[in-house]
Amino acid sequence: MKYEKRYDEKYVIFTIYGVIEARVPKKFYERYRKKYSDEEIIQYGEKELYNALTKRRLYYISEESGFPLIGHNAFGLIDRGTNLIQVRPITGCNLNCIFCSVDEGMSRTRVTDYLVDVDYLLDEFEKLVNFKRKYCKSIEAHIDGQGEPFLYPFIEKLIKRLSEIVDIVSIQTNGTLLTKEMIARLDGYLDRINLSLHSMDEKMAKIIAGNKNYDLSHIIKISEEIASSNIDLLIAPVWLPNYNDDDIKKIIDFGTKIGAGKRWKPFGIQKFVKYRFGRNPKKIKKMDFSTFFRKLRSIDENLILSSSDFNIVKCKSLPKKFRIGEKLRVKLEMYGRIKNEMLAVARDRIIQVINTNKKIGEYADIRIKRNKDNIYVAEDL
Ligand code: SF4
Repeated sequence: MKYEKRYDEKYVIFTIYGVIEARVPKKFYERYRKKYSDEEIIQYGEKELYNALTKRRLYYISEESGFPLIGHNAFGLIDRGTNLIQVRPITGCNLNCIFCSVDEGMSRTRVTDYLVDVDYLLDEFEKLVNFKRKYCKSIEAHIDGQGEPFLYPFIEKLIKRLSEIVDIVSIQTNGTLLTKEMIARLDGYLDRINLSLHSMDEKMAKIIAGNKNYDLSHIIKISEEIASSNIDLLIAPVWLPNYNDDDIKKIIDFGTKIGAGKRWKPFGIQKFVKYRFGRNPKKIKKMDFSTFFRKLRSIDENLILSSSDFNIVKCKSLPKKFRIGEKLRVKLEMYGRIKNEMLAVARDRIIQVINTNKKIGEYADIRIKRNKDNIYVAEDL
């Protein structure tokens, strides 16, 4: 286990793999440090966990924790009834994009992060694949999430093992943490990288990333590195009218020049969509979907994507465990991603209980409001 240790007034703070912060009360540490190693204290001792980057409370979700991996949209596994399974190992981001749909990085709305144990994630993934194999032949694991997946300390192990279980492994990333060596190590295991790149102008790229340390030249080098490996590169800018209008064409020219899209389409240009708990850039101009598609078509018809471009087909989902409107009594077991949201567990699913003032350990009478894709949201009655 790689960690750094520091002290403050009340705690001995271990930063593990650069992303998990374990705060062990000083008194506890002093009592046990002669008898146990630091690693044993971190693993079994009294501690509070935080995300070292976002400073939010963190749950480490392992098999022993008893929390299922289906039911939430921020962590675990999402099966939307196709042959693509979303794998979400971690929340939290090192950027602060001005348009972020999940208000990641330094956030006003997010109060909790989650990190899933890699063996648990793989075991549960394999069970889901065994179910889906009966209904579809080729299965893709797509690693994404509310945050940057390369912050996950076990990302290389995850990718390598996923590649043994399914046919295609793809990942979404902002590219900042990728290195030439990492790309070489993942070559042969990872089939496609969907890379966010929103501007070819250094100043605008920093503005959009919401981070003055964002290094566009690194992302450009990394893009070239991916394009010259066996990993396919899909460049995925978000078009932000009044910010990066001039960049879209430049990004396309750049991607074409370096050979993005060897196997799949090279570009996945996305329209900015305003979300209730997302960020909204101050100077953004509205663009409706028909204008967006018309503009894309006028550049190149091939910029319009469909699920068939990625061989995505319908494939039976796991049966739902709750009906809309169903009432049940649950124990609140974890803090939710945003304020006044708590998580409960029932029938091997996570349920997000929204608009609640109740605390951990309390019981709530709830009614299921959403069950789409086996993601469960309920109101506290
Ligand atoms: S990189 Fe993605 S998750 Fe991170 S802040 Fe930007 S849009 Fe949000």
